[in-house]
Amino acid sequence: MSNLNEGTNPELQACIHCRCPTAKRCTGCLGAPDYDDKPSVSTFYCSFACQKADWPGHRTECRKLQARKSLSRAASLLQDIVYKIRVQTTTLEIKSAHVEGMTVYLNGPLPNPLCTQQMTPFPTHLFKDQAILKSALVYTACMEAMVFLYSFTKELLRDICSEIKEITVSVIKHGLRICFGPAHGLKVNMPQSMYHNVYKVVLKQGEVWAIDPTGAQFGYYEPLCSWKSFQQRISTVDRANELGYIRHKVFYNSAKYPVKFMVSKQAEKEELVKTLEDWLSVWVTLHGGKFNAILQGTEATFESTKNEFLKQLSAHVKKSLARMYMPAEIAKRTEEVEARIAQNQADPISRNEFEGFRKFLVSAMGNPSL
Ligand SMILES: [Zn+2]
Ligand SMILES: [Zn+2]
Repeated sequence: MSNLNEGTNPELQACIHCRCPTAKRCTGCLGAPDYDDKPSVSTFYCSFACQKADWPGHRTECRKLQARKSLSRAASLLQDIVYKIRVQTTTLEIKSAHVEGMTVYLNGPLPNPLCTQQMTPFPTHLFKDQAILKSALVYTACMEAMVFLYSFTKELLRDICSEIKEITVSVIKHGLRICFGPAHGLKVNMPQSMYHNVYKVVLKQGEVWAIDPTGAQFGYYEPLCSWKSFQQRISTVDRANELGYIRHKVFYNSAKYPVKFMVSKQAEKEELVKTLEDWLSVWVTLHGGKFNAILQGTEATFESTKNEFLKQLSAHVKKSLARMYMPAEIAKRTEEVEARIAQNQADPISRNEFEGFRKFLVSAMGNPSL
């Protein structure tokens, strides 16, 4: 059973047990999100004695809402993790940005297939609007997010979910569109539907939710939404795979292509993913062995633990990048990259797959940058 708290809204309601007026609510279920037509309603008690007496009746509902609240916190943490990583690891050279109606234009040269392009800090100063900044940060990041988030998601959700899937969907309803390319180049006609990766999770208590950490690129800033309402944004579910499929299978595809900037970007991302996974397991060990303990406590406790975690994560990303770009490390990686490309060029299957991927990119993202 949880504590009693007045929450942020000190309105008076009748104690559910003795009917006397009170502003105190059960903190266990306080602040859980609504689920379709099942709103999250606070339960008021005047005293701990009344709460205790009513517990057998409230327990089931409270636990259900607690799981919802943990999921909502997990989704916000996962989204923030993606933002923190992306803000230090862009590979696009964005020189300017402007908004026309519902389209955000990120202007900059297309990547040169023959060159390598190091991950650099995202040019946040180009964005006055924080929402547009978030959208730009996660532009084409949905697959990468599934890769970076894999171990974080697994640790956060395993106790509350009975099922976690990585879902590839076609998004047809956009709140916003992003276009990347040279400022005065051809305006690309953006396709009606765009591929996108999200999590579909089933809570142990039965509710089905979508976690969309990179939805901001389509104008969806809330990382959690019921699966039913998420379905209104998409036309089809193209693939459903177990958690980890993208991390362990799809992620390595671009390393098979005979294009230098892709292979080198891939080698760098792989290295960063591994160092973050190692860092997470050390962090978890240092903090009592359970990462999902971070989701517990009052809203204020959660916010402060989350922010401290994100601060340490950012510092670690920075440190890892500094090490990765030391001359000796670059030389070592360049050798590996050259060897991989030579192998890829000699392999007709790899060349064919790349051609298929190039066509997919053009149709899926409206960006013929390869
Ligand atoms: Zn009472
Ligand atoms: Zn409760």
